[in-house]
Amino acid sequence: MLGTEFRWGRLGALCIVLSAACTGAASQNLPMIDTHSHFQAGKGRNFPEALTRALQEMDQVGIARTLLMPPPLPKDQGPMYYDIEDLQFAAREAQGRVALLGGSSLNVMIHNVAPQDVTEAVKARFIARANAILDQGAVGLGEIAIHHVSIPAMGPQHAYELIAADHPLLLLLADLAAERDVPIDLHMDLVPEDMPLPAVLRPNPLNPDTLPANAEAFKRLLRHNPKTRFVWSHVGFEPLLTRSPEVVRAWLQEFPTLHMSFRVNRGAPSPAAALSPDGRLKPNWVNLISAFPNRFLLGSDSFYDAAGVARGGGEQGSNQGLRGLRALVNALPPAVAEAVASGNAVRLYKLAPLKVER
Ligand SMILES: [Zn+2]
Repeated sequence: MLGTEFRWGRLGALCIVLSAACTGAASQNLPMIDTHSHFQAGKGRNFPEALTRALQEMDQVGIARTLLMPPPLPKDQGPMYYDIEDLQFAAREAQGRVALLGGSSLNVMIHNVAPQDVTEAVKARFIARANAILDQGAVGLGEIAIHHVSIPAMGPQHAYELIAADHPLLLLLADLAAERDVPIDLHMDLVPEDMPLPAVLRPNPLNPDTLPANAEAFKRLLRHNPKTRFVWSHVGFEPLLTRSPEVVRAWLQEFPTLHMSFRVNRGAPSPAAALSPDGRLKPNWVNLISAFPNRFLLGSDSFYDAAGVARGGGEQGSNQGLRGLRALVNALPPAVAEAVASGNAVRLYKLAPLKVER
């Protein structure tokens, strides 16, 4: 069994690195649950090694548990593709430290049938597969992409994906999740109104020149079943910079079952970036989190491989994204820090409470 106990040993060193965030904050060193991580796949993938390394990286910043899930590929891309079956060993070997979501197969199904072609037979296949994933112990369904821009830094295979947010299979997924009482983890790059492709995304030819508006269709999905709990991932650091604190506040006010998970690989001046360029949580984000303390989670979006965080962790190969989460939690007022660090994840995903050795 690999590292089933969470240890505090390296956090002292961490506080030297993050001294500004650590000084005097009562929230420092709270154990964290990362609700959004992946294994790096592709040719030569080695998930057992990736697990070993993931647990080491988690120890370094105080992540007690991670929710591993397949990324939302638009089709079965050979060795890039995996689903919950390929992750089961991790939940077994790192019991208590890893829980699983599944659904890349569902994402492929959604992205490969036009709304008007969703027959009863298609629905039956979809329902059977979703139930099979949940019957394997998935604590949620994800990662599911509605709109996913291709980021040049993530490589030429990083897909551009777009479907209507009120696609009949997404509505069906919402109903299934409500029935089985599990959340859905969504990737949804928000486009309030048609917008030209931002210059930074132009190097990747997979992206279209114009990004079509998707907010209204997304609202229809969120309203579809009042019992469905959604986790809209990657707030705080995103390519389109459309989720400013004001926008996030409005969405959370309007949709009571909507939650968001923070990815904070880097800081930036944009209001949509939760961290400032020097890595501090911005005051208006502290205010927003404090106003909705039960609606935010952590979700690093790390892609682990045998060498560490292969992608999605800030600079190539760095664990900057994980350290960003630690800085975020340590900067929160004590009254809300525990909820964001782990409490909301335990409640939303119905996880066993953390057993922490101090
Ligand atoms: Zn994502």
